[in-house]
This record gives sequence, C-alpha cells and structure tokens, in this order.
Amino acid sequence: MELTVLGASGTYPKAGGACSGYLVRHEGFTLWMDAGHGTLSTLQTFLPVTEVDAIFLSHAHPDHFVDVYPFFYSLFVHTDRPNQKVPIYGPKMVQERMGRLLTRRDGKDDFDSILPWQTFEPGDVAEVGPLRMTAFESAHSCTNVCLRVEAGGSVLTYTGDTGPHPAIEKAAAGADLFICEASWLEDERSIPEPIHLRAREAGEIATRAGAERLVLTHVWPHNDVTKVREQAAAAYSGPLELADSRMAWSI
Ligand SMILES: [Zn+2]
Ligand SMILES: [Zn+2]
Repeated sequence: MELTVLGASGTYPKAGGACSGYLVRHEGFTLWMDAGHGTLSTLQTFLPVTEVDAIFLSHAHPDHFVDVYPFFYSLFVHTDRPNQKVPIYGPKMVQERMGRLLTRRDGKDDFDSILPWQTFEPGDVAEVGPLRMTAFESAHSCTNVCLRVEAGGSVLTYTGDTGPHPAIEKAAAGADLFICEASWLEDERSIPEPIHLRAREAGEIATRAGAERLVLTHVWPHNDVTKVREQAAAAYSGPLELADSRMAWSI
C-alpha cells in the first residue's frame, strides 16, 4: 500500500494546511480516507478526481467530511465524467448530517447517485477493491470508526478521532503503520469522558499494539509540535513522525 497525507490538522486547518485526509493506493485502486477542509485541493495535485475509487469517512464532524461536497460537484460538472460512482463508507450519522446541506434543487439526488452510501459501523468488515477494511469502536462525541486496512500482507490503522478506548489497541495490533490522533498535550484539561488522545497516550497505545511505525495526526494547530513529539516519544521507542500534507509512505 501507498499512503499519502492530504491534510493532518486537528479540528481547524493550520495556515497553508488542511484538515484530515489521506490517500491509500494499492494495485491501481484509490481510497480517499477522510475528506477534511482543503484535502480535495491537495488530492488533485496527485491524481484527477475521476481516479478516486472509494471514500471512507470516519465520523460526522466537518473537519473530516466537508470536502465531499466539492468532490461531488467536480464529478457532476466534469466534462468527460465516465458515469463514475464512488461509494462512501462510514457511520450512518455521517450520511444523515451530509444530507442536510443539500436540497433536490442543489443536486441531492445526483449526490446520492454519484456517491452511493454504504453504512460501515464498528464491527463491520468490507472488501473494497483490493483492500480489506475492518471498523473498530472508539470514544468520540459521535460515532467514529477506527479503521484497520489490510492488503498485500500489510496493515494500516487510522484512528479517526478518539479518546482512550481498548478497541484502538486491537485495531492497531501489529500494524505496519499506525496513524493515531494526538490532539492534546499533557496539560490539556481533564474531562470525564475524553474525546481525543494526548500525544503520550498515542505513544502508549502504539507500544501496547506493537505498531511498527507511529504517525501522529490531528494535532491542534496551536499546539507546540516539539512537545507533541517529545510526549509521544516518551512512551514509544519506534519510528515516530508527525503527519503533514504531502508526506507519503510505502507500507
Ligand atoms: Zn477532527
Ligand atoms: Zn471529531
């Protein structure tokens, strides 16, 4: 698999950056994983919109799905659109929220036709092109799928947004690459039911899961990236990087 970062900012984009978005490519198949603000722009520097085969949306927060709208319009008005259908996989709540911004006169029926919906909730498994996707539970303010992708004997795990949850470790077990959210630093205020991870917690989960490589993402743009790296590295001794637009790995 090839993984490319389209955007990695948490909650709002940093200057010149974009929110969550990734390309997973394998054997000519392209999965667009989360479609946060600004990711469609970067995506088109790697491939034309007509080459996206499927979309995965982790949850129903705008920083993970709003670029689906311009993607739809890009296909809708494309001069040589090859009658393309691009299925979207995600929790039911994403479909419900996405639908509210479109009316029939805005192309709602075409949206549903061009981007057919596939409900993909924790516990589900889907074969998507050459990729096997398994949905795990997580702890967020709305249903979020923590995604394990397997292909060609390799494993990629992406948390979406989550606080501490035992399923994350299972999703990342033995992963060749683990993209883990690290929205918070150590001094973030404590709340009874955390909806994000501290960088240290991301490192701890990666260590317990035996992940080969840890990529931190969804870092809040106002956080000190040096501290993010240090706090994660205190709990994880393997290769560690902070995701940023255009970074890429072969897995
Ligand atoms: Zn988010
Ligand atoms: Zn979220």
